[in-house]
Amino acid sequence: MSMYLDYASATPVSDLALEAMRPFFQDQFFNPSAPYLPAKKVRSVYEDAKAIIAHSIGAKGDDLIVTSGATEANNLAFSAVDYIITEQKTKPEVLVLETEHASVLNLAKKYPYQVVKVDKNGLIDLNDFSKKLTKKTAFVSVALANNELGSIQPLSEIARIIAKEKQRRLEDGKELPLIFHSDASQALNLINLSVSRLGVDLLTINSAKVYGPKGVGALFVGHQVRLNPITFGGGQEKGLRSGTENVPAVVGFATAAEEARNHSNSARKNYEKLIIKLKEELRKAKIEPIFLGSTKHQLANFCPVSFPGIDAERIIFKLEDKEVYLSTGAACSANKGLKSHVLQAIGLSDEEIDGSLRISLGKDNTEEDIKRAGQLIVEAVDQEAERIGLV
Ligand code: PLP
Repeated sequence: MSMYLDYASATPVSDLALEAMRPFFQDQFFNPSAPYLPAKKVRSVYEDAKAIIAHSIGAKGDDLIVTSGATEANNLAFSAVDYIITEQKTKPEVLVLETEHASVLNLAKKYPYQVVKVDKNGLIDLNDFSKKLTKKTAFVSVALANNELGSIQPLSEIARIIAKEKQRRLEDGKELPLIFHSDASQALNLINLSVSRLGVDLLTINSAKVYGPKGVGALFVGHQVRLNPITFGGGQEKGLRSGTENVPAVVGFATAAEEARNHSNSARKNYEKLIIKLKEELRKAKIEPIFLGSTKHQLANFCPVSFPGIDAERIIFKLEDKEVYLSTGAACSANKGLKSHVLQAIGLSDEEIDGSLRISLGKDNTEEDIKRAGQLIVEAVDQEAERIGLV
């Protein structure tokens, strides 16, 4: 039987989410903006679904703009900078973490930007952040959990530093806004999120990583933030993202987000147990594994690991033959044949980067699976180590 260990890349749609979506493809296919009763009922289902998604991050449905996923939500978030540029006729700076997802890093490049360093565990260097947060900074983007390492950033501490800078601006009579955005794509599954506790103004969430359908996500927008539209048309989603609403996808996302919220504590405990087992198995390899990140500040289902000197891509192919599926670094970086910027940022050598695997567990993985997967990974690593004469 095949074994999937790449849930950070994509999650299957849960049974409940799939069932909840089904009626909105056929019987209740109506455009929620149409004027007759069945369409109005669909509108009401859509708004309720948004409220459920919002509830999972401690917000209200009206605070969310639905998008086609996290990439688009991040693009919408950065439109806050365009709004400021137009309003204030300045070119403010944006500040991003060096380990951000490509969708954030590539957006930052549109503006004058600075990159904040991380430590060897992928956690933000708060001193570097404080230094780089200047009176010119208008926008800060730090992902809640990294997609390669699972490292969880201390958002509320970052928010406190931002609040101090805002206070200074107020006292100096400076009007440049300072907006705090976080991409929580990976985190919604396992962390009970609350936008007020995190202290963010904008939060990206993603259905595709939480057992909902792909191609749908949302941006939480705090009341104080002004954005520019990213699509123009019929004025849906407060005029920021026009286009007929994807009702089934939003209903599926809501169902999945609610399931995640109800099960996150038990899921976390289960993953912690499984990861301990997996590490136990991986330590049996003839090459000593380096476990990346700090377990204390890491998503419970993540096990990024390096076998220095081994070619991780060859391990992936060997495992593929046995129907075990996992990633080297992030799928998007891996596909381009580039070295992961995240693994570079935490100071790994080229050899350590080349030998890195990203294992991320999900709800279909059992203890038996994990033991067997661990054994197969070790077998592949050992064969490879012997082939190249490392042992
Ligand atoms: N941000 C993070 C942290 C991610 O992990 C991903 C998905 O890989 C994305 C953004 C992009 O999500 P999507 O492809 O759904 O737009």
